[in-house]
Amino acid sequence: MTETKKTASKGVALIIEDNEDNLVLISALLKRDGYRVIVAMTGLAGVEMALKEKPDLIILDIQLPDINGIEVLRKIRAKETESPIPVIAMTSYAMIGDEERLMNDGCTGYIEKPIDPTRVLGQIDTILEEKR
Ligand code: MN
Repeated sequence: MTETKKTASKGVALIIEDNEDNLVLISALLKRDGYRVIVAMTGLAGVEMALKEKPDLIILDIQLPDINGIEVLRKIRAKETESPIPVIAMTSYAMIGDEERLMNDGCTGYIEKPIDPTRVLGQIDTILEEKR
């Protein structure tokens, strides 16, 4: 396998998000922070990519066009064979009741939408450090 991209210091981040504006924003922030970014715009594509690419971090939207983020999380946790990939969900205020379910299903942490571009990288680092 040839590696054409420069190796990013923080590894690979998979963003599962169907909203293009959010995708562009989160992608730009994570790239600037040193991640190599891969994306999926449906839940099932995200599950497949997570299991195949084994990213170092997954950013997971909850409202997706096919299966929702909770189902995505469950499918990944049910099938991954190595140590669990950190999954950070992005939840909107209306979906706040899902947060407990997400954590029960093995989510690493969550960040409420709308995300604050000046804070989100710090929020991600805090979640990852707490779980380390
Ligand atoms: Mn969405």
